[in-house]
Amino acid sequence: MAQLTLQDIKPHHDNQFTLVTRGLAQNRNRVFAVNLVKTAHDKTDAIVAAVRKKPEGQFDCKPGCSYCCSYRVEALPPEIFLIAAELRKRPAAELEATTARLREHAVRAKGLRPEHHNLPCPLLVDSKCSVYESRPFGCRRLNSLDVEACKAELPPPENEELNLKAAAMFNGTVEGYLKRQLPSYPHELGQALLEALEDPGLEERWFKGEQVFDFLPDMDEMLSANTPILVGAPPHL
Ligand code: SF4
Repeated sequence: MAQLTLQDIKPHHDNQFTLVTRGLAQNRNRVFAVNLVKTAHDKTDAIVAAVRKKPEGQFDCKPGCSYCCSYRVEALPPEIFLIAAELRKRPAAELEATTARLREHAVRAKGLRPEHHNLPCPLLVDSKCSVYESRPFGCRRLNSLDVEACKAELPPPENEELNLKAAAMFNGTVEGYLKRQLPSYPHELGQALLEALEDPGLEERWFKGEQVFDFLPDMDEMLSANTPILVGAPPHL
């Protein structure tokens, strides 16, 4: 594959940044602000689909394969509220079972840096994602060109075009929310989702600009590295 240039990547950032900032300026309501993150999900899916059509986009990822669901999953506040809303629509028994798994997970995951986080995602049920349609950006963009590396818990080779374009687009999303004073930093999905389910008022507080979830233990390092925040990326990136 030819080397990607800035011109290949920058439009993904700029278009999404414009979409988010304009959208939030024109529709200042909480439900809109939460659902706006779906534009980033749709764009990620489109980038993945386009790359998969290329010879170098023949991923080893298959339905039922869930090796990558033991990485630390990171998600932005609107992604967390989106999943919480989806779970609240589920039958009471299912919501109760999910909440119980989240509680157990939250105790084990608290304070873990990515290199020490080797816990199955509490939303993984029978090797399938129980919130597949609403899964966050980090899960949507993950790809592996060698499942044997995943099995061995080694960093798998990945498609660079997908990673760079998706990261640029997602950074445009993050910056767009921040520009409109909506906190938009990544949080550990399991712990934050439990809080969102237990306190429905968090969404309104976030919409008023409050930082409602705990920062990741390594957040300072992520910011000071001054590199694109690859939300949900495996530890080697
Ligand atoms: S949210 Fe779904 S896809 Fe993402 S890690 Fe959890 S189970 Fe896997």
